[in-house]
Order: sequence, then C-alpha cells, then structure tokens
Amino acid sequence: QRVIFSLIQPTGIPHLGNYLGALRRWKELQDEKTAPTKKRRRNNRLIFGLADLHSLTLKQDREVRRQNSRQTFASLLALGLDPNRSALFLQSQIQEHAELMWILSNVASTGYLSRMTQWKDKIGVGKDASMEQLDEKAREKLKLSLFSYPVLQAADILLYRPNFVPVGEDQLQHVEFTRQLARSFNSAYARDLKAPTFNLPEVMLSPAKRIMSLQQPEKKMSKSDPDVNSRILITDAPDEIRNKIRKAKTDSVEGPLTYDPEKRPGVSNLIEILKHVTRSSKSCEEITQELQDTTLGALKALVAEEIVKNLDGIKEKYDAIVAAGDKEIHSAMVLGTRVARAKAGNTMKHVREAVGLYVPE
Ligand code: ATP
Ligand code: MG
Repeated sequence: QRVIFSLIQPTGIPHLGNYLGALRRWKELQDEKTAPTKKRRRNNRLIFGLADLHSLTLKQDREVRRQNSRQTFASLLALGLDPNRSALFLQSQIQEHAELMWILSNVASTGYLSRMTQWKDKIGVGKDASMEQLDEKAREKLKLSLFSYPVLQAADILLYRPNFVPVGEDQLQHVEFTRQLARSFNSAYARDLKAPTFNLPEVMLSPAKRIMSLQQPEKKMSKSDPDVNSRILITDAPDEIRNKIRKAKTDSVEGPLTYDPEKRPGVSNLIEILKHVTRSSKSCEEITQELQDTTLGALKALVAEEIVKNLDGIKEKYDAIVAAGDKEIHSAMVLGTRVARAKAGNTMKHVREAVGLYVPE
C-alpha cells in the first residue's frame, strides 16, 4: 500500500497550474485504485484536503473565506475526486494539525525558516533578503504564521505518514523541510524506540512543474494574484478561456516561434501549457519545431482550444454541485474527516509517547 497525501489552499477556484501541477495527478492516482486491468491497479490510500488553516495567512473577509472553502471543495468534486476512493477533508477539522505543529516547532530551526522563500515572496522582499535586513515595516508585515507556515505544512504531511506527496515545484522546498523535521524529530525523540516516529515522505512531481502567470510570465500562476487575467480557472467557460489566452502577454520578437523560457517567457509558457494539456511526450523544443511557421495568434488559438477540450465538463459538474446546495460537499466531508481523524489520532499517540506527554488510556 502507498499512502499519498496532499492539500490545496482554499484561496479560490483552482487554476490551470494547480490542475496540471497537482490536481490532475490526484485524480489519476484515484483512478489507479479501480483500474480495469490488474496490471494497472495500485493500492493507493489517498488523503486530500483543503489547507484552510494555512489560508488564514491571507487576510480575507470571513464570508469570502467561507465561500472560498466551499468553492474549492466543490472544485475537487467537480474534477472527479470521489469521496469513496479519496478521503477529502478540511485541515481545520482535525485539531491534530495545530497540535503537531507546536510539537515540531521544538525541532524547527529559525535559521532554516529564514532562508525559505515563500514568506519573502508574500511580504514582497527579494528572495535573497535575510531577517536582519528587514526594516521595521517589513517585520511588522511578517507575521509569525507566515514565517512558521512550513512547520504547519510539515505537520500536515507527517500526521498522515505518507509515502508520497504530489505537489508542484514551488512546494519542493517545503517537502524537503518536512523531511528535515522528520529526521530531527526522530533523532531527538525516537532514537531509543523500536521504530522511528516518522517516515520520510517523497515528492511526487508532475511533469508540469510550474505553469507561469499569463500576465507576468516570470511569476508562477497563483490563486492569490489579484489579476484575474493571470490565470485560467478550471471552471472558466470556453469563451473566457479563449479571451484570457488571447490577452496573454507574449512579446514582439519577429520570425519563427522559439522556445526560450529566459528570453521569451510568455511564448514559452504557452508552449509548455500546450505540451501538458495534450499530454505530449515530445519536448517543448520539438513541439516548437513543429509549430515553426505558426503565428502567435494561431498558437494562442490552438492552446486555447486544447485547454477548452481538457477542462470540458468540469464547469457543468461544478455548477450542478453548487446548485444542489452543500449536500454533496457535506457528505464527502463527513467521510473524509472520519478517515483523516483516525489516522491523525493514531500518529499523535506515537508522537505523544515519543516526547513523553500524557497519553490517555
Ligand atoms: P496561493 O497563491 O493561494 O498560494 P496557489 O496557486 O499557489 O495559491 P496552492 O493552493 O498554494 O495554490 O497550491 C496547490 C497545489 O498546486 C500545490 O501542489 C502547488 O505546488 C501546485 N501549484 C500551484 N501553482 C502552480 C503552478 N503555477 N504550476 C504548477 N503547480 C502549481
Ligand atoms: Mg501557493
């Protein structure tokens, strides 16, 4: 059996980057469980959910926040995640996440945390900035939660003792940090025990590691980017998709198409998207070679049509789930929470034992 775990932040409806980088893989892993041929069938134990505690690091109106959680959950169901094959739950429903985070904080080094890039990104300082260089204003902006975010994320992962964590490239750092914490915990508290408390989870990286923003192609596509034209939502209607791709920022380089993420990030991102939505096994260079005589306009039209095809049916399913009220969401959550709670409770028992906290009978 392979235990596979991943979360998504409920900061809005997932976009094409989330889909190609993570969610499509979640669905494939689920389908492996019930594959028609024995050869393809895998015994995956899947635990997926919404990192709603993490989303508190983003200041939001409470109604918007609630709405976002509902929409993200509905999106997972619309993608075809099936609560009978994948446990789907909300992080905030399982109190052990916050509890384990505190315990792991005792082996988490602030030096390591200060080198991580996400908090720098979110408060808008360069990725080489160090804590000492921050001025008063930046320090005020840097809340403890943003700084310790990776510790909560490590707790999320380690609670379920997964073998694999399917995420996009931006999360590599965080999983590496998680492994480091697991090692530190094991050596600090579990050296004399029969078995280490935590195993070291591995990243499962999809080939679409990092889809870029359509408007600022040097940045990754993000849910929290204020510009709605920077991303394609998995629930966008065909015409919205066509429009956003048409408006995507490219360049005015003359001559044939070339794939060059450094010099032509916008065009290269479109080619990258084309490769992944069509699941092409060719390299981006080969794809570009074949499209040499295509104009930018025609490339955009082609990319848009392939995205439309790929996301076909998701919007309809999403609308139906939302129109039916919260019923489907609620029953999925009940099932998923039960699975998550059992697993989390079991891990915490081991953790409590390892550190010497009281373990109730
Ligand atoms: P936010 O801006 O709120 O952080 P996000 O778009 O980064 O939103 P997350 O919820 O943080 O989305 O990430 C969910 C999953 O999607 C993670 O596994 C992450 O690695 C992956 N992911 C996010 N953005 C991209 C992207 N542009 N390309 C590929 N994978 C991505
Ligand atoms: Mg993110």
